[in-house]
Amino acid sequence: MLDSTNIKYILSNWGGMVLIWDYLRTNHKEMLRSPLFPIVVSVSTYFITCLFYTTLDGLSKLVPALNRYRIHPDQSIKPSGILKAVMLTLYNHLVFVFPASVAQWYWRPSLPLEERAPTALEFTLGILGCILLFDFQYYLWHLAHHRSQWLYVTFHAIHHEYSKPFCWVTQYMSAWELASVGFWTTVDPVFLHCHHLTSTVFMVFNVWISVDAHSGYDFPWSLQNLIPFGLWGGSVKHDAHHRCPTTHFQPYFSHWDWLCGTNSGHFKSSAIARKRKRDA
Ligand SMILES: [Zn+2]
Ligand SMILES: [Zn+2]
Repeated sequence: MLDSTNIKYILSNWGGMVLIWDYLRTNHKEMLRSPLFPIVVSVSTYFITCLFYTTLDGLSKLVPALNRYRIHPDQSIKPSGILKAVMLTLYNHLVFVFPASVAQWYWRPSLPLEERAPTALEFTLGILGCILLFDFQYYLWHLAHHRSQWLYVTFHAIHHEYSKPFCWVTQYMSAWELASVGFWTTVDPVFLHCHHLTSTVFMVFNVWISVDAHSGYDFPWSLQNLIPFGLWGGSVKHDAHHRCPTTHFQPYFSHWDWLCGTNSGHFKSSAIARKRKRDA
């Protein structure tokens, strides 16, 4: 039962994170230690997030008010386009991700679990560090695969088949691009010595923001509208990249695009234009 002592204990352990870790560690030790766990978490988060946005796309036909948050309100997402993107995603997962997962499960030993939960500072710095590192790695990869004609045609052009992205376009990519993204997502938390819990939350967050960047939605609560100074590109800038693939190579933030001159002022969405009109 929750009394004042319990509430004090929960608050002093930053919202119960310590209790969550103690519970998971005691009751789901083998699951957390399994090399398959991060893969199952990433893949299931991807499909759940995509199904959420696909539901919104379907609802936007019945609830026109939703269109005010779409970057291209007049865009009709064809079932054939969704099917094509889903089929490639399933193919990549069956042919590449699944065998890699089995190999990892077979060869990689189970990881030891930390005794204590991460502190709030360790957790926050871990998530931020992983996102910044991943963002920089993908920026370099992305820039190289646009600057080199061979790299573009061989590995990245497939992702640009859709000039107005929707959620399933997120992983509509070549096996090499998927492998690069999967490698950084797995290795970055290890490189930064992140706690198990921090690594897992980073993976979930990374999948969510990557799908959000392709969702075609620009909500008032989207990160690009919450993080100041246009520091977060999000769905609006990534949509601009798909429409005009010479700028906005950073997947999430904007600072490298600013510093390296690959930013453009030509990104906008009708949702943003309407918001500016309302704010004016
Ligand atoms: Zn994209
Ligand atoms: Zn690109």
